[in-house]
Amino acid sequence: MLNIILFGPPGAGKGTQSARLIEKYGLIHIATGDLFRKHLGEKTELGQKAKSYIDAGNLVPDSLVIDMVDDKIKEVGEVKGIIFDGFPRTVTQAEALDKLLETKQTPIKKFLALQVPEKELIERLLDRGKTSGRSDDQDISKIENRLKVYEGETIPVAKHYEQKGKMEMIKGFGEIEEIFERLSTAIDSI
Ligand code: ADP
Repeated sequence: MLNIILFGPPGAGKGTQSARLIEKYGLIHIATGDLFRKHLGEKTELGQKAKSYIDAGNLVPDSLVIDMVDDKIKEVGEVKGIIFDGFPRTVTQAEALDKLLETKQTPIKKFLALQVPEKELIERLLDRGKTSGRSDDQDISKIENRLKVYEGETIPVAKHYEQKGKMEMIKGFGEIEEIFERLSTAIDSI
């Protein structure tokens, strides 16, 4: 299976690029942020539990995230590959994912890390907030908190996959099409 982690800070363009990549390579998209928003919309028990964390721009506790991804991987079954977007976001989540995939004997093939200057991220998120209806994109203090959480808790995930020789940095600014080409080249080299 072609399992890929698309990594990067909030606003890096993971969702935009994932949509194109799943189409090009026939992959399944697992985006934990989207899954949580679906639970919030449907007012499920998991949605209620996750709400306060998401509203504040904090991470949802690992155990909730890992169980949700575990269920989703089981649900999708045998597929060509999976793009993980917004997950793993902590080293604990990364270790749990590695274990889950080990049992299926289908490890992560590549960890693609989008690099975008912070000033551009903030502009993109505020811009998205105008139309997305996402409350976490409309408040500069929540955006700053998400970037701080990314620096503190999520960056170590890149080290984890770098040590496994899977990490590749991708320039995440410029035209959407150019970034897509860079990602495609990295995937084609697998
Ligand atoms: P972005 O990357 O733009 O911040 P996401 O849609 O990926 O947005 O995530 C929105 C929110 O959902 C996060 O701020 C966090 O509260 C929660 N979330 C999503 N994925 C995870 C995860 N893997 N671990 C913990 N919390 C998560």
